[in-house]
Amino acid sequence: GDQRLSENGGATLATSPETEWNHIINHFAKNKLGVWCKPPQKDLWEFVKIEETMGEEVSVVLSDGSAITISTGEILPANEKNLDDVDDLVELCYLNEPSVLHNLKYRYSRDVIYSKAGNVLLAVNPFKEVKIYGNDFVTAYKDKKSNKPHVYATADAAYRDMMKDGGNQSIIISGVSGSGKTETSKFAMQYLTSVGSQNNNKIKNKLIQANCILEAFGNAKTSKNLNSSRFGKLIDINYNAEGIISGASIQALLLEKSRVSRLRRGERSYHIFYQICAGAPPILKDMLSLKMASEYKILNQSGCLKINGVDDADNFIMLVDAFDTFGIPHEVQESVFELVAAILWLGNISFVVIDKEEHVVPKADEASRNAARLMGCKTDDLIDLLSTNRIHNTTTPLTLQRATVKRDALAKFIYDSLFNWLVEEINTSLKGDEQHARHTISIIDIYGFESFQKNSFPQLLINYADERLQRHFIHHLCKLEQEQYELDGIHWKNVESEDNEECLDLFEQNPTGLISILDEGSNSSKATDETFTDKIKKHLSSNSRFSCEKGTFRIRHFAGEVPYDASGLLEQNSDKLQFDIIQLLSSCKKPLNHLASGLVKQDQTTSQSAFVKFKDHLYKIIEQLENSKQHFIRCIKPNIKQLAGNFENGIVWEQLKHSQVMDILQISKSRYPISFTHQEFATRFGCLLSHNLISTDPLRTSVAILQHYRVPTQTYRVGSTKLFFQGQVDVLENLRQEVL
Ligand code: ADP
Ligand code: MG
Repeated sequence: GDQRLSENGGATLATSPETEWNHIINHFAKNKLGVWCKPPQKDLWEFVKIEETMGEEVSVVLSDGSAITISTGEILPANEKNLDDVDDLVELCYLNEPSVLHNLKYRYSRDVIYSKAGNVLLAVNPFKEVKIYGNDFVTAYKDKKSNKPHVYATADAAYRDMMKDGGNQSIIISGVSGSGKTETSKFAMQYLTSVGSQNNNKIKNKLIQANCILEAFGNAKTSKNLNSSRFGKLIDINYNAEGIISGASIQALLLEKSRVSRLRRGERSYHIFYQICAGAPPILKDMLSLKMASEYKILNQSGCLKINGVDDADNFIMLVDAFDTFGIPHEVQESVFELVAAILWLGNISFVVIDKEEHVVPKADEASRNAARLMGCKTDDLIDLLSTNRIHNTTTPLTLQRATVKRDALAKFIYDSLFNWLVEEINTSLKGDEQHARHTISIIDIYGFESFQKNSFPQLLINYADERLQRHFIHHLCKLEQEQYELDGIHWKNVESEDNEECLDLFEQNPTGLISILDEGSNSSKATDETFTDKIKKHLSSNSRFSCEKGTFRIRHFAGEVPYDASGLLEQNSDKLQFDIIQLLSSCKKPLNHLASGLVKQDQTTSQSAFVKFKDHLYKIIEQLENSKQHFIRCIKPNIKQLAGNFENGIVWEQLKHSQVMDILQISKSRYPISFTHQEFATRFGCLLSHNLISTDPLRTSVAILQHYRVPTQTYRVGSTKLFFQGQVDVLENLRQEVL
């Protein structure tokens, strides 16, 4: 107001944001235009009209009819009704929280789950079947009959870019757990295999079956998602010079091993365990001495054996089908199932105390006998392994705690090896015609941010990966674009996006970051949970993202603060198997002895811990992404309960904020600062077209003008209500002057 005027000598009056703001408010009041306000004590934005302006305050009428007075600082402009439903949020005249949420919610209520935020596709999980997929839709996008935002449209853009520029492409799908990444990746794959298959559906079907196998062995029910992927996945689809699929491959990133032995309440272990118990035919059941899922300790510990609406027995039949399609021979399938059953029986092995020092030995009962038989070793050898530690020629007896840890390490190793072996088998079968492979489209679906009440090693890895990819995402979308503008000499208003550099330092710093400290501890025989906690306290406390009290440390990730349990991290991070375990495995039948022989060789060359290996793999993947043209999809979970038709503003906003959607929007908007509505453009420049080219539809007329005068396509964008330009349309403007 007045004070500012005197302070600044009036010189900046016109650009003072607050004065401008009052100006806008007056405009809204005078024209009875809607605004958003958050009434006190309510956590919801309401659409209201201004009744009266009173200096720094306005009075508005709420939806329940009551009138309140509120400061002008607490209202935000709403977009006009014709902007209720825009395909690209960039088209919104006012970009603010309530307007963006309103647009997404309005669309979601009509089952329009996809929208664009500049170059990023947003996908809001419908939690129900939406009829927007399948062959007809694939064809519509292939033939460019539809240009509405869709995962098919994004996949199509990747395919077209590959054919046009001849470079590798990648589709990067991110979002919190349960937001729909894996489903979205499957739709992208469906599209990319359809456009490039030329009636040869072999690879396409194989990829679908591969997914079925990987989901049985790598997915589980968590409290966030009934079918949560517990590994990161990168699918490469290779094409020849004509754009026909020549083969494919899948990379799996670190499976969550702990899920094989320990479960949170209400969660399940990997689907395969329940599927085999429910669906194995009698002969197989006999062979594996299989009982019901409720009989196995690793399955019944969490109080959750079934998933609503999921038929485990049916899914087992589908799994066997998938194995058959892949041409995995029956005897190989049998050995896979033997190992799955062996793990179930291992989990049932119980121990008896044998002396005053509380040393234990496993009971020689049904559980240990079946486990040994299915692994193909002697029962006595297995019992020996689980009652003593043998290092060189000394043997030490085990307490219950250590015997259990050893048993679980064995089970986890077997499962993890089995999973990796399946991935290898799948890749051998997907390889196809490598000679003619020219380009690749990669689809990356990596586990998203997770926070439970108690968090341990898997969450540490997952959230680190999420943080790394977020860095990549910000860097690519914000920083690179900004640099490009600067190169172009365009005046650029710096968009302040929150950086997660400090959090990454916390992990990656050498030698005092979390990864190094964990690595060192896991490789030292002296380190304990306590020495680990002391060390991280000492080295990391200066990092503002870190705090530690007792056995719990907290990290403030970009997506939220997570408390981690420090105990057991060293053990989970150590990827080395004790030598006596390897020895036992070498005495087993195929394929375990085979896997063990690989270990003996590997152990001599490397002693990297799980986290270091994971980080290296992640970096390789990011490098691969950086060498491709990247297409981003952000999945959004609209509510926690995984319900259809339930769009919760707070939860969505949280995710939009963390994925920096508002920054992306601002950047995109400033990239195309000039805009016209279709009508404005058609009216202004229609005089440049001959009459027969002018349509009653302003959009058509506008597009005809742009095409006729060969305005370069990269300099403008066509929105559903507006046209956006990178700069003034000088050429058209000059021509217009001549005509007039
Ligand atoms: P994420 O991989 O991000 O953890 P998922 O892809 O597994 O999440 O999705 C979780 C659940 O949401 C799925 O099991 C499915 O029920 C539902 N879902 C996700 N995307 C869609 C979609 N496009 N259409 C229908 N349901 C979906
Ligand atoms: Mg998933």
